Amino acid sequence: MSNNPWQTLLDITTRNAVDYLTSLDGRSVAPAADASQLRALLGTDLPSEPQSPVHVINDLAVAGHQGTMGSAGRRFFGFVMGGSLPTALAADWLASAWDQNAAIYASSPVAAVVEDICQRWILDILGLPSSSSVGFVTGAQMATFTALGAARHHVLREVSWDVESSGLSGAPSVTVLATRERHASVDRALRYLGFGTDSLVEIGCDGNGAIKPAELAATLQDVAGPKIVCVQSGNINTGAIDPLDEVCEVAREHGAWVHVDGAIGLWAAVSSRFNQVLAGLERADSWAADGHKWLNVPYDCGVVVCAHPGSHHAFTRVSGASPYLVPSDERDEMDWTPEWSRRARAVPLYAAMRSLGRSGIAEIVERGCAHASRFAELLSVIEGVEILNEVVLNQVLVRFRSPEGAHDVLTDCVVRAVQQDGTCWLGGTTWQGSRAMRISVSGWATTADDVDISVAAIERAYQLALGERHDEAGVNERRAEQ
Ligand SMILES: *Cc1c(COP(=O)(O)O)cnc(C)c1O
Repeated sequence: MSNNPWQTLLDITTRNAVDYLTSLDGRSVAPAADASQLRALLGTDLPSEPQSPVHVINDLAVAGHQGTMGSAGRRFFGFVMGGSLPTALAADWLASAWDQNAAIYASSPVAAVVEDICQRWILDILGLPSSSSVGFVTGAQMATFTALGAARHHVLREVSWDVESSGLSGAPSVTVLATRERHASVDRALRYLGFGTDSLVEIGCDGNGAIKPAELAATLQDVAGPKIVCVQSGNINTGAIDPLDEVCEVAREHGAWVHVDGAIGLWAAVSSRFNQVLAGLERADSWAADGHKWLNVPYDCGVVVCAHPGSHHAFTRVSGASPYLVPSDERDEMDWTPEWSRRARAVPLYAAMRSLGRSGIAEIVERGCAHASRFAELLSVIEGVEILNEVVLNQVLVRFRSPEGAHDVLTDCVVRAVQQDGTCWLGGTTWQGSRAMRISVSGWATTADDVDISVAAIERAYQLALGERHDEAGVNERRAEQ
């Protein structure tokens, strides 16, 4: 290594990273190595002596080539995962090089000011109340946790219960209303917050998974005491957006807090095409969004927005509590997140938003929706293929029919065959009792060509799977033979 300890290592790292990113188009999207192969590559025993930094990085790069999912590439449609915009990735590297502790302004002015700027940009582009508070967290899970923590303070204070001092023991009970199509992170947030999942009352939803506001209104009528309504803009399977205007209207009548899980779909608010569908968004009390999904910021990046900064602050605040901290009139980030020490998480977010601008963010959303519609159109004309959802966002659910009637088994086989083929990657799910292939178009770089190539791969996999026997009995027989 040269005298400058950074130069050699970071040069090698840049080369490795660029090689990796440019190799994505030509390799299988699925990982090549399994856990035991990766253990062999990475070494399972901690060396007793220091190892050469160059070797450490090179070995990691080799293992990464084999053991990564190609989710940073153009033909990854699994879960809901974006790639990284080049500017956001570069900014993320800078943030790592700076190694700032973005806990308080005094420990990193630049991190605090970047957050302050991002806060204003986010409220502006999403059309949310400009007086709202924003916290930069690891993802929508922590955003929903923080938002529901703010809600807990807010709805209990309204019945004169100070939950921050008194805890929940003996507190008035809080009812949380949501559909069975809520994301499981809502349930986990309720567990973290001590509400327990027994506090949940389920509201019915329509065929695409959107809440039925009339049913919500009727249930709210029957529930006494503090209430929180959890809705979503972007169902994890169908992309369905709850009718927010109607929801907020009835929730307001009953004094309920409304939280919007917008992990997937909140960015759609930047596109004027969604004005109608997202009408009423600004009337909610809190929102969760993800930077690392559709906005294509590297992991991890989530955003919580709260229309009641006092309640948000009551849940997360620390400043003033510890004499070793340096109070300031600027933003002390940890006053708005559950974390203490943390990376300068908003730096890549700032870079993504600035490099895209308002129109660029709208374009990512519109392109993702157009690609999803293209998937649905091209797949639906294939004999035996059915689209299960109304494609309202970037999500498509596909079901494959088998002459033997074993559609669930066949659909799972097609998903596996697509993954093995490696042209693209997508997963399976169960939607209203049926197995389905789910396609999520969240990457910034996907083109219409990628959709066409992927549809061809899916059709190949379907034909391959049809060639095998797919009656349930046949599957059991084969299992017994093995
Ligand atoms: C991904 C997702 C979450 C969880 O978000 P993380 O960023 O993984 O913490 C919550 N809700 C919905 C609808 C999601 O798609």
